[in-house]
Amino acid sequence: MKQIPFNKPYLTGKEAHYIYQAVYSGKISGNGMFTKKCQTFFEDRYGFQKCLLTTSCTDALEMAAILANIQPGDEVIIPSYTFVSTALAFVRQGAKIVFADSRADHPGIDESTIEGLVTSKTKAIVPVHYAGVACDMDQIMSIAGKYNLIVIEDAAQAVDSFYKGKPLGGIGHFGCFSFHETKNIQCGEGGMLVINDERYTKRAEIIWEKGTNRAEFFRGEVNKYGWVDTGSSFLPSDMLAAFLYAQIENLDEIQNRRNAIWLQYNNGLKPLADKGYFRTPYIPDYAANNGHMFYLVTKSMDERTQLIHFLKEKDIYPVFHYQSLHKSEFYNAKYQGKELLMADFYTDCLLRLPLYYELSDHDVDSIINQIISFYKDPNVTNKN
Ligand SMILES: *Cc1c(COP(=O)(O)O)cnc(C)c1O
Repeated sequence: MKQIPFNKPYLTGKEAHYIYQAVYSGKISGNGMFTKKCQTFFEDRYGFQKCLLTTSCTDALEMAAILANIQPGDEVIIPSYTFVSTALAFVRQGAKIVFADSRADHPGIDESTIEGLVTSKTKAIVPVHYAGVACDMDQIMSIAGKYNLIVIEDAAQAVDSFYKGKPLGGIGHFGCFSFHETKNIQCGEGGMLVINDERYTKRAEIIWEKGTNRAEFFRGEVNKYGWVDTGSSFLPSDMLAAFLYAQIENLDEIQNRRNAIWLQYNNGLKPLADKGYFRTPYIPDYAANNGHMFYLVTKSMDERTQLIHFLKEKDIYPVFHYQSLHKSEFYNAKYQGKELLMADFYTDCLLRLPLYYELSDHDVDSIINQIISFYKDPNVTNKN
C-alpha cells in the first residue's frame, strides 16, 4: 500500500534557481537582495510595518524578548499547550513563565483566564495562534492596555490567517512567524519578526545584526559602524531567503490547496463528529482558517493510541504533539500554578492528520474512510 506520511515539504520548483542566483550574485550573507524581497512582500501584502527575516521563529521570539526588555524575575503569560520555543525565548531572559490553560472548545489560550494571572511583575502576554486560528485579540489587547503589557503573537503557524480581517502577527507589539519545513511556506529552517510599534524598529535592526548599527550605516544614516547594543546573529543567509522567495511567489496556490484539503477532511468527518465520536477543529466567527492543520480530539488517550495504531497499519502516519510545558521535564519542578486540565486533555487526546500540498483528494478520501472504518469496529471500546 502507498505510504501517506504526516508531512511532505512542498517545492515550487524555483527554489534551486533562486539559490543559484543568490550564490552567483556574489553576496550570500544576510540582509541581501532576496531578504529584502521577502520582507517587502510581507510588508506590502499584509501592511506590516517592519519585517525582519530570522533563522527561525525561535529566534524571532528571542528578539522580541530582548526588545520587550524582559528581565530576571519578570513574569510572562504563555499557554502551556504550545511548542517549547514560545516559553524558552523568555526563560533565556530570566523570566518566570506563568502558564495559562487552553480553551474548552479550542487548544488556544483561554482568554478569560489571562487577567487573573496578571500580577505587578507581569511584563508580557504571548498568545499562540494554534493551528493558524486566531486568539481573541481584542480581549488580549484590552487586558494588555489596562496593565501596560507587551503582546508578542506567536504566529508560527499563522501565515496568511486573520482576526476580524486583520492579519495575524500584525496586531500585538510583535509577531513571530516560522518557515520551518512543517509550516505552510518554508525554507527548511526560517522565521520572521514583525515589529508593529515603531518605537522598537531601530533597536530591532541593531539586535538583528549582532548589536551593531550596520543596517543604518549601509543606508547612509550614520557615518560610523560599530557596537552599540546587545544582540546576536539573528539574520539568515540570503540563500535561505532565496528559497523562501520561491515559496512566497506561490503563497496563494499553496493556501488554496491546503484550505481545500482542510475542507475535504472537515466535510468527510463531520457526520462522525456530529454523532459525537470525536471533535473536529472549532473556528470562532472572528477567526479565518489558513489550512495549517487538521486535527481530531478523541475521547481518551487510549482511544487515540488505538486509532494511531490502526492508521499506521494502513500506512497512514498521523502525529500528536505538545506535552503541556508546565509538566515538561524542564519546568515541572519549577511550576507552582494550578492544574491546567484542558492543556493536559489536548496533550492526551489531540491527533493531527496528514496535511500537505501534494496530498491528493484520493489520499484524503482514503484517510477519511479508514477513520470511519475504525469507528465502526466493534473492538473500539471507547466509541459511544
Ligand atoms: C513551529 C513553531 C515554533 C518554532 O518555530 P521554529 O521556526 O522551528 O523556531 C514556535 N511556536 C509554535 C507555536 C510553532 O508551531
